[in-house]
Amino acid sequence: MIWKILSPKVLTSEERPDNLTKDTQAKVKVTQILLSNTELRAYCGTPKPKYPFVPGRFAVGVVGEAGSACVKVEKNTRVFIHDSVPCGSCDQCLSGDPDSCRNMQIAGVNAEGYMRDFVVADEENLSPLPSAVSDTEALFTGIVAIGEAVIDRLKIAKGSHIAVFGAGELGNILAQLLIYHQAVPILIDSDEQRLKTAAQCGVYYTVKADEDLLPTVERITGGRLAAASVHCSYNGIPLALPFDTTAPGGTVVYTGFSFPEASAQLKNALDKQLTLTSVANDYSDVATAINLLLNKAVNIAPLHLLLSPVSDAAKQFENAANAAEQGQNVPVSVLNMLA
Ligand SMILES: [Zn+2]
Repeated sequence: MIWKILSPKVLTSEERPDNLTKDTQAKVKVTQILLSNTELRAYCGTPKPKYPFVPGRFAVGVVGEAGSACVKVEKNTRVFIHDSVPCGSCDQCLSGDPDSCRNMQIAGVNAEGYMRDFVVADEENLSPLPSAVSDTEALFTGIVAIGEAVIDRLKIAKGSHIAVFGAGELGNILAQLLIYHQAVPILIDSDEQRLKTAAQCGVYYTVKADEDLLPTVERITGGRLAAASVHCSYNGIPLALPFDTTAPGGTVVYTGFSFPEASAQLKNALDKQLTLTSVANDYSDVATAINLLLNKAVNIAPLHLLLSPVSDAAKQFENAANAAEQGQNVPVSVLNMLA
């Protein structure tokens, strides 16, 4: 079975056989997928993907059948299915540097997603999961990986204050990773419920994005402002707001799994000689991300993730779309592909 979005807000399913075509492949029974804004935007058609569209970027599963040449996985190995797969045909891929692929195939974004019973994948694109990392935790592997890519870019010193704008799943997890790396995140959002959840995850400084934002950040940083700020996309936060919270000469990183059309007044950034950069779909090490989950560097329990059976998927998508249209932040949830 495979689920497809045929046109905006029309989700359907169909039967499709999945068979191994190479002995380095494995057939994985998908157990859970993450339902995030990526899937929701595809469903709502904002922006419109190429329909029919198979959603589902982050997935975990169990190997049901492994080709004879597989060495990493075997029957019953629990795996994270990589969301980004090198194209195999660009110059970078052909010269043996697939990590720099210029045409990365991203599941549920520009390639077929994982909302299906079975995924046939080369074992290279499967990462076995330690038993201490649950399926639901493992769904966050890609989010942890992008958080780590942001932190690599920041090159922060211990104890640095970092302002993080957007307390959705990415901002929340990034803030937790910053703490793990001994930095001091200041997590900013206009949604108090999200800030409360982040506080329960262990984020000490959570700040409402209102007229007191700047004085509050000044107070927390002893007047120095944040060494760097990170802006997470699709949280309704103006692009120029991080210029205010960043110390002169500091860095502002724009991150997210994609970026909307956007513009900003740059004068403040230029006056302060800020470095502006972005991190999106960086294919940093999946193994590192799984290790961070194993080390409990992030706590997802306070997210109280809703776990819904895939048989209710149409209803879940519809409810999420309605909430988004009313301007609510739709929290990530999990689809149980076995029920
Ligand atoms: Zn390539």
